[in-house]
Amino acid sequence: MLHAGLDSVGREPRVHDSSQPLLFADDLAAVRGDGIFETLMVRGGSVRNLDRHAKRFRRSAAMLGLPEPDLNLWGRATNLAVESWKKQYPELADRDCGLRWVLSRGRESTGRPTGWITVAPMSEEVERGRREGVKVMSAERGFRLDLSERSPWALIGAKTLSYAANMAALRYAHEHDFDDVIFISDDGAVLEGPTSTVIAVSDRRMVTPKTDAGILAGTTQASMFGIARERGWECEERRLTLDDLKAADGVWLVSSVRVAARVLSLDGFEFDQPDRADEVEEIAAEAVGE
Ligand code: PLP
Repeated sequence: MLHAGLDSVGREPRVHDSSQPLLFADDLAAVRGDGIFETLMVRGGSVRNLDRHAKRFRRSAAMLGLPEPDLNLWGRATNLAVESWKKQYPELADRDCGLRWVLSRGRESTGRPTGWITVAPMSEEVERGRREGVKVMSAERGFRLDLSERSPWALIGAKTLSYAANMAALRYAHEHDFDDVIFISDDGAVLEGPTSTVIAVSDRRMVTPKTDAGILAGTTQASMFGIARERGWECEERRLTLDDLKAADGVWLVSSVRVAARVLSLDGFEFDQPDRADEVEEIAAEAVGE
């Protein structure tokens, strides 16, 4: 793991010794999960889909009323993190890694935002899901699809640090012999995975839940749709139910570092290997710039 600190955002980035603590105990990221993050894929020593992540980072900051991130500064910090990572861990050069940007509201006592970057290799679990596929359970998220309109303070669509419930859903799934989760709303709409976007594929058609309600707009899904359209596929955002997913040829969970993991089964319903699985995975690989 490598840390590059921007400890008071605004100062020039520097590499931080990852065996040493970085945050103050009153940092609002630690105390209240009050901040935002992005996880970017580093492949072959370069960061992928930077612009899409940067745009979402700015949008998340605006939704939380955080100061607008200085993207030049984050860009310099990213370059520094990647270069230091390559130097410190040359043996991991071929491994896909996750580079995380974190921006917190900062110390309760100073009110100055805190920012930092970490780099770490993709986990074994994510790698296995990408290679072998995943067994998924559905789980209620406990809100209706229109929550984001009714309750902007719920911060639906911002990539906030408050992921404890998402991680709890994943732990629950693991305890019950599943690998991953697809959340559904109280009114039966498919939302997203705890760390992924859902894409259903039938023939040469990709469908994902509407990204303007109830979920985070995924960079991987957006990039895949761009490539699929160029290849003549139809792509659509619309309301989906669990039955729609089961009626599809195949379903994938996609995100920046995992890229794509095919859903092998959903609540015990098993999918056959779809004819176009290889093409979907090619599109996903292209979406992260392979
Ligand atoms: N939805 C959630 C809740 C996520 O946490 C993530 C990524 O971590 C995604 C969707 C997929 O987003 P992206 O493709 O930008 O990684």
